[in-house]
Amino acid sequence: MIIVLRDNVTEEQIENLKKHLNKYGFEICESLGVQKRIIGAIGAKPDFDTRKIKILDGVAEVHRITEPFTLTSRNHQKENTVIKIKDVEIGTDQLTLIAGPCSVENEEQIFKLAEVVAISGAKILRGGAFKPRSSPYSFQGLGEEGLKMMRKAADKFGLLMITEVLEVGQIDLVGSYTDIFQVGARNMQNFSLIKELGKTNKPVMLKRGISATIEDWLMSAEYLLANGNKNVMLCERGIRSFDKYTKHNFDLSAIPIVHRKSHLPVIADPSHAAGFRDYVPAMARAAVAAGADGLMIEIHHDPEKALSDGPQALLPAIYMQLIEELRIIAGAVGKKL
Ligand code: PEP
Ligand code: MN
Repeated sequence: MIIVLRDNVTEEQIENLKKHLNKYGFEICESLGVQKRIIGAIGAKPDFDTRKIKILDGVAEVHRITEPFTLTSRNHQKENTVIKIKDVEIGTDQLTLIAGPCSVENEEQIFKLAEVVAISGAKILRGGAFKPRSSPYSFQGLGEEGLKMMRKAADKFGLLMITEVLEVGQIDLVGSYTDIFQVGARNMQNFSLIKELGKTNKPVMLKRGISATIEDWLMSAEYLLANGNKNVMLCERGIRSFDKYTKHNFDLSAIPIVHRKSHLPVIADPSHAAGFRDYVPAMARAAVAAGADGLMIEIHHDPEKALSDGPQALLPAIYMQLIEELRIIAGAVGKKL
């Protein structure tokens, strides 16, 4: 931690600051420049609240130099995390494709789309059975019936499945059907949920919260790792911004930043970021170019009739064409698809 002192700091204030630093167990390293007086405090615990120093008289600024996440950090683990589920590996140079509808709607729909997913070469079928909807009047998902249909469809076409778990009380039920738990953007900081998912060994895809900083997101991943689950992947799905032309602002830069800061795989979700199907292919191509470890894309054979997120769903033919384009981009950045 670096502490910059105010220009008019008094000797008494400095003594008081040092007393506090000693009390909190820091080693002190002083630098008395002509312009600025700076104190280095070495040995910050990951959970140290820098505001305890910021509020002291004579202190102008406090900068943390170590990051608050540890197990999630690249410093803790140099090599990339690779998640293995049956014959699928996530986090290698083989891109992971996840596709499917926003919600499981009925058996015919999920079987039709699972077939498209399998033909496209994707290995993981997505679909929500418990839906986190902004409005209580919107379709909330088919619940366990949806999980059953999705499991059958995934098995028929040799796919893995990923679906959202909304609350602690659903972990056992959802876990008995799915291969990967999805934690949605709205639940990224549902600490009781992520703590419990951390105690399972099933892979978890943690979506970035709608207003979460990258640090908030990595701290939530830390909850999963700290509770024992190493099979964690992250998903950038866009963050809230002020523009009206997209649903969210796709934070492309989060992909290389997370790769630098963490060893966890990053999946990109251009569908929820863009919110409109016209922009999904461009954002998907950009995500692969930016080094994403995989993509999650929503598709639907009849988007007009979709019970959720129809406007952002790609028609199967457009999705197939996109895969071909992605293959070229993947090759250009040393990945395979
Ligand atoms: C979803 O993937 O269906 C979903 C609800 O996404 P998000 O949590 O990112 O909004
Ligand atoms: Mn959706």
